[in-house]
Amino acid sequence: MNSLEDIIKNVKLLENLYDDLRIVDPIKKKVVYHKGINNVPVDKNCYDFWRKKSHCENCISSRALVEKDNCVKIEYTGNKVLLIMATKILYSDNRYILETFKDITNIGIIADIENKSEEYILSYIKDMNNKIIRDDLTGIYNRRYINDKLPVDIISVKLSKMPCTVVMIDIDDFKIVNDENGHLIGDNVLKDFSQFINHKVNSVNGWIGRYGGEEFFISLPKMDKEESKTFIEEIRLEIENLCFNYEKKCLKVTISGGIYEIKGSEEIDEVFRNTDKRLYNAKHKGKNRIEM
Ligand code: GH3
Ligand code: MG
Ligand code: MG
Repeated sequence: MNSLEDIIKNVKLLENLYDDLRIVDPIKKKVVYHKGINNVPVDKNCYDFWRKKSHCENCISSRALVEKDNCVKIEYTGNKVLLIMATKILYSDNRYILETFKDITNIGIIADIENKSEEYILSYIKDMNNKIIRDDLTGIYNRRYINDKLPVDIISVKLSKMPCTVVMIDIDDFKIVNDENGHLIGDNVLKDFSQFINHKVNSVNGWIGRYGGEEFFISLPKMDKEESKTFIEEIRLEIENLCFNYEKKCLKVTISGGIYEIKGSEEIDEVFRNTDKRLYNAKHKGKNRIEM
């Protein structure tokens, strides 16, 4: 008996406890087993069930893969609100995620739900799920999302043989911005700065998260390090010439960055370390520069 069959046999014991239950391959985003109220064929993309065209940004199966804890989210299927819990199954080297669904339509999480439009329900749920993966101040992804998504990007390099480059960016002398203008204006700079870079990174199908304070982590799938260098260098120059306007003052900042091309075999900490090392070099060499 192969391991997946074994897992399914064990998982069947839980079937009566949940409304739906499925086993997902979180890297390939495929459903390998699904038992529930609705008959769902296996080998579908896991996000098809949520009527999405590509992987969920609030993907809990990839989160469950890297976190020790179970992960939870809420989704709406068009007539039901479901609470989904993802748990890692470690078995014979295979990494599968068990997802259990519980119907919570009528527990009052959305008041007066039967009189609410689908649009309202979807945006309400989106807001709730967003709180988990977005940074409060800037609205871009947070550290948790970075930790969840990076392992998937690393494995994608290995599986797809396509390059992926990551970049750590740090605003230069940001302490001075705070000291001279106050913390509130410092916050506004961080917000506007994040929106500016987020827009740029999204335009090339990358993603960006706030790594901490005034440090940001960018992933650029399908870009090798030379392409990324050109792209990030352009941003560095634009930032240098950009005015952040507050209280009729033009505030300017510069950034330093470290670029690292993922090999596909690293642990996530190794990727952070290698990227940070290059950022450190950029700072050491005088700031307002990108090192590769
Ligand atoms: P370096 O060029 O070496 O990066 O210098 P720096 O001053 O940017 O770096 P340092 O790490 O010494 O200080 C980071 C500053 O960023 C200090 C801290 O107050 C500020 N900062 C971090 N998070 C926030 C935030 O959320 N809001 C504001 N306003 N400032 C923040
Ligand atoms: Mg700094
Ligand atoms: Mg810093």
